[in-house]
Amino acid sequence: MSANLPAILGGVAAFPDGAPLCRPRIDDDAAILERISKVLRSGQLTNSTTVRELEAYVADRLQVPHVVAVSSCTAGLMLVYQALSATGRVVLPSFTFAASAHAVVWAGGTPDFVDIDPLRLTVDPDRVAEAIDGAAAISATHLYGAPAEVERLQDIADAAGVPLVYDAAHGLGSHRRGRSVGGFGTAEVFSLSPTKVAFGGEGGLVATHDPELAHQITLGRDYGNPGDYNCSFPGLNARMSELHAAVALSSIASVDEHVRRRNELVAQFRTATAGIAGLTFQQVDDADLSTYKDLTLILDESRYGLTAAEVATALGAERIDTRRYYSPPIHRQKAYASLPQSRPLPITDRICEQVITVPLWSQMADAEISRVADAIERLHVHAAEIRKQLR
Ligand SMILES: *Cc1c(COP(=O)(O)O)cnc(C)c1O
Repeated sequence: MSANLPAILGGVAAFPDGAPLCRPRIDDDAAILERISKVLRSGQLTNSTTVRELEAYVADRLQVPHVVAVSSCTAGLMLVYQALSATGRVVLPSFTFAASAHAVVWAGGTPDFVDIDPLRLTVDPDRVAEAIDGAAAISATHLYGAPAEVERLQDIADAAGVPLVYDAAHGLGSHRRGRSVGGFGTAEVFSLSPTKVAFGGEGGLVATHDPELAHQITLGRDYGNPGDYNCSFPGLNARMSELHAAVALSSIASVDEHVRRRNELVAQFRTATAGIAGLTFQQVDDADLSTYKDLTLILDESRYGLTAAEVATALGAERIDTRRYYSPPIHRQKAYASLPQSRPLPITDRICEQVITVPLWSQMADAEISRVADAIERLHVHAAEIRKQLR
């Protein structure tokens, strides 16, 4: 048994106690507990003063006039599409989380998937332009926290006169050319679920400049009830609880520090793995800031020596948790098997075979990210033997 052998070939696991994909942590649990005891004493457990405080805090942070807290990003997206009456074709990438498309379907629309930019991995504006004729809306995802090409997408949306909705689930703390993600398009919807950089346990936030849209979401999260129980439309219960808002307030307060550290860790990982053939990363513009919600590697099998799926198995033996974000892409998932596809998606179909997301958490130590990098290097060095073992 050699310390230099990958665990799958009999070496010692890189993380004997396991490395989870993410580790949601709050720096300041005393503040949360104090807020929660206040909530419990107040008798108002949902959609009350703590939620209002969160909405005002985030609106100020993002410099967006309206922020409406909801129970999840998925519910927020559903309510946005409902309010926009986006019951036709919605042009969006397939290389994103399934909820981006599910929300369209729940609101009565039809996803129309288009391809991504091969380097940025966000939706390719040229492909959106080709599909825009007759569409009801456009949706883009700030993938892994890297902002979409918002200027070009806005031009296309304006020219076609259709709304532009951002799935900003990964984007709380991201910047596009110095501006906070949250203020672009018709609406941007954040997630506060536990795998995100800023979290509330569960929860979502809809940010918009449009007061009428904000009003509709406010009604829609509460059954469509304007207050007199004479509902104006069939809404959801998509309220955020006060307990989740208490957690979110503390988590968002430290998001900039977490994003800074994540960028530092990613830079360190990239330096440590710079010499490894066939390993590349999503391109993020120098003028932009990504939250790095995920650290996703792109592996060219012919040069790295292993597929992303093989690497996932080998990293499992190292007790390193991984995900294939996003494989299968949405158009390849069972839920969408019967959806007629308008066009081939060659970039999505290639990239989804090449991606693997490795652990990254905001309080990760330098030594921990180095250990992940070392494991990626070891697998490359021993690729041929690993492949033999796996086949
Ligand atoms: C997490 C995620 C969602 C769903 O967020 P919820 O708050 O869990 O509903 C939607 N889109 C993307 C891209 C996500 O990563």
